[in-house]
Amino acid sequence: MTVEKLEFKTEVKQLLDLMIHSLYSHKEVFLRELISNASDAIDRAKYESLTNQDITENDPGWRIKIIADEAAGTLTVSDNGIGMTKEEAVQALGTIARSGTKEFLQALQQKQIKDNPELIGQFGVGFYSSFMVADKVTVISRKAGQNDSKGIKWESTGDGSYTVEDVDKAGKGTDVILHLNQDETKYLKEWEIKDIIRRYSDFIEHPIVMDVEREKQSEIDKTQRVKMREEETLNSMKAIWLRDKSDIPEEEYNEFYKHIAHDFTNPAKVIHYKAEGTSEFAALLYIPGKAPFNILYKDYKMGPALYVRRVQIMDHCEELLPPYLRFVKGVVDSSDLPLNVSREILQNNKQVDLIKTNLTKKVLDILADMKKDEHDKYLEFYREFGRIVKEGIHYDLARGEAIADLLLFPSTRTEEGKSRTLQDYVEGMKEDQQEIYYASGASVTEILKSPYMEAFSEKDYEVLVMVDDIDDFIFSGFEYKGKKMKSVLKGDIKLDKVVDTEHEKAKKEFGKLIELIKDRLKDQVKDVRLSGRLTDSACCLVADEHDLDPQMEKLLKAMGQDVPAAKRILEINPNHPLFAAMNAVFEKDRSNPILGEFTQLLYDQALLLEGSKPKDPGAFTRAVARLMVQNLNQQVSA
Ligand code: ADP
Repeated sequence: MTVEKLEFKTEVKQLLDLMIHSLYSHKEVFLRELISNASDAIDRAKYESLTNQDITENDPGWRIKIIADEAAGTLTVSDNGIGMTKEEAVQALGTIARSGTKEFLQALQQKQIKDNPELIGQFGVGFYSSFMVADKVTVISRKAGQNDSKGIKWESTGDGSYTVEDVDKAGKGTDVILHLNQDETKYLKEWEIKDIIRRYSDFIEHPIVMDVEREKQSEIDKTQRVKMREEETLNSMKAIWLRDKSDIPEEEYNEFYKHIAHDFTNPAKVIHYKAEGTSEFAALLYIPGKAPFNILYKDYKMGPALYVRRVQIMDHCEELLPPYLRFVKGVVDSSDLPLNVSREILQNNKQVDLIKTNLTKKVLDILADMKKDEHDKYLEFYREFGRIVKEGIHYDLARGEAIADLLLFPSTRTEEGKSRTLQDYVEGMKEDQQEIYYASGASVTEILKSPYMEAFSEKDYEVLVMVDDIDDFIFSGFEYKGKKMKSVLKGDIKLDKVVDTEHEKAKKEFGKLIELIKDRLKDQVKDVRLSGRLTDSACCLVADEHDLDPQMEKLLKAMGQDVPAAKRILEINPNHPLFAAMNAVFEKDRSNPILGEFTQLLYDQALLLEGSKPKDPGAFTRAVARLMVQNLNQQVSA
């Protein structure tokens, strides 16, 4: 029999290093993680046995067994679940099959993992936590349904490599054997094991058993008491979601959450109810307190676990909630669905749709209540998940307004750190105001200082400030209570009638000059027009009403999309003295080259305001420097 020696992937090495050398608190969670894996392995076997009876191998008594061997110093977690082939073990126990691993590990290293053990929990690095307490870990496994005894042995001391070899194993499933570190032998003590299991794994649906020593009356001599070893079940196995709300202490809800969400922190909200009527199901949902680090990654697994009459069908059923509620974790147990329900069936199933509608409404209602009654808590929730809930505006038209009512924005009327709702905004609108104005950009301060806001602040129109990358995409075209959302960065702005008369006058005065500017810039801008949004600045660039704003353009480019650069419109402020001065030169000599040069300079400034760069930064700075010299010389000669 050959022993193969293999190297862990780099990210596993880094992770193990962190685990072994930096994580000192909550070491006992290793047991919860191993039991959780064993339970998952049994769930899988049980599920597969619905369609393939061979899987049970005539041993349908699913159980997890804990064996503490004080003499050998080993603690074994044994299950009779699905088991692993050699390839599966190498894949599952030698790599971390998740995207973002590298970034995550870097974040951990910077963040002082010691103080933040919950970060590791989030990552669901369950199995590797064994190395926090063990010098050596041996895994002996055999795939269920083979009916032979060909198993595999995987072994590692956690120092960079592991070995695999073929071994005989009678029963199906997996034994994880921890050779405990000398300082950690307390985990062999019966009371310690019982305590950890009660705290972390009581609700596991399969029996967790252990041989325990009991004193009993002797069968032979009834006057004597003898010590005997007997198997005892250590967990209550109650499906918590089927129990009565009033019987469940908060602590138990929280532990169950930590188990299913791989989180160390308590949830922000527990939603537990039973639906009856057209659709019968029990739901136990949670709103986490903190966003998992990978919630914006593509491979983030969304949706609660789906059970059908207590049998787990899948870990994450994404058909049960819309993506904008993907942070919700939990369990849904249906009484209506068939046990052999497949992904395909789920995708077009009326029962599933009914559950989804019901759950979505429930979660949105709970969030609305939280916003009303527990505002501080809601603010925390919003900081973590507001960006995600917002997506619903775009994707769930039917519930657009309900979702919009959950949103919070800073605005030109809020103090720092405070926010307004769309409802607040609408109530504070001016009498003849038809649109809800918003400005999107990289930061609140940047937006508030932006020249695009000049006319709005001067005329006292409120503008909502938006700093999420998706904002413009989400809100352009959205209507709230019959009022259209309008970006102050895009399209034409006319805040009042005065603007029209002013523009009429300015057109007469500067019409020809504007033609010249337009002609000079015809390759660079779509149009040149008079601005209704500027009061102090000379000019700015705006996107056409239906074009992407620069923020969105950047985002799409960053996502690797091919976005054609849409030409902008140059808006000029006829009240700025610059134009009267330019016009005077223009009237005197239309061919004066300074007109062309300054037009370019004007455009370059507008680019800077927008957050872009002048096409030729060298020429731009030379021109500015020259103007400075001229001005300084005038100061001296004056
Ligand atoms: P996670 O459970 O979050 O996937 P782990 O590191 O705990 O991460 O486990 C990695 C993988 O190893 C599991 O996804 C599973 O494929 C496999 N595995 C671990 N323990 C067992 C077990 N007892 N039986 C079968 N497979 C297991």
